[in-house]
Amino acid sequence: MIQDHRDGWIEVITGVMFSGKSEELMRRVRRAMIARKQVQVFKSHLDDRYGGLGQISSHDGQEIPALPVSASRDIAERVATDTQVVAIDEAQFLDTGIVSVTNSLADEGRRVIVAGTDMDFRGEPFGPLGPLLAVAEKIDKLHAICVVCGELATRNQRLIDGQPAPAEGPTIQVGGLESYEARCRRCHDVPSAVDDQMQLISGGRRP
Ligand code: ADP
Ligand code: ZN
Repeated sequence: MIQDHRDGWIEVITGVMFSGKSEELMRRVRRAMIARKQVQVFKSHLDDRYGGLGQISSHDGQEIPALPVSASRDIAERVATDTQVVAIDEAQFLDTGIVSVTNSLADEGRRVIVAGTDMDFRGEPFGPLGPLLAVAEKIDKLHAICVVCGELATRNQRLIDGQPAPAEGPTIQVGGLESYEARCRRCHDVPSAVDDQMQLISGGRRP
């Protein structure tokens, strides 16, 4: 943890779903409030799990109020002059403008805490998280437990009707019926619908 720091900075909490990013963000926000800092909390409006839009919720049911935003510009416009700590959850859903917005907030002397998953369901970099990691002063990469084998999970497994979802699906599936699991690299499965079709035509099987 950065302490006795009079300038602003960016800290990113990242990792797979279920790794505790929201829990850790809430812990840092609560501690900033205990330290009597002026805190504002935002989250992408695309995340409406559990309690809905007006709050951040973790998978274990904790909640804190948060302002839903649809674009990085909304955050720039809504941060109050006296705000000392800005927390942003589910940042992977925001546009890449979030990099310059968080940089400006830090330049102005604020502490910026960003949480978001760094890989999409294919295991590829997710939205603005890569560039955010590059400009951050501090990064914590958290892990979950692989629900298949019990090792450390680093990948987001998308499932449709309980089956691994094909790579060709959209990165952000709004209002979809898909579900997610935390898995390790070995248990992560991203079949290609195109490959499957080719194998069907040629009568082959996927290894
Ligand atoms: P994130 O924001 O990274 O998605 P949360 O903070 O919302 O994670 O939730 C973390 C909590 O999820 C854990 O403390 C634990 O209670 C629960 N959990 C459910 N599934 C798993 C898993 N496979 N590995 C680790 N924690 C899990
Ligand atoms: Zn595994």
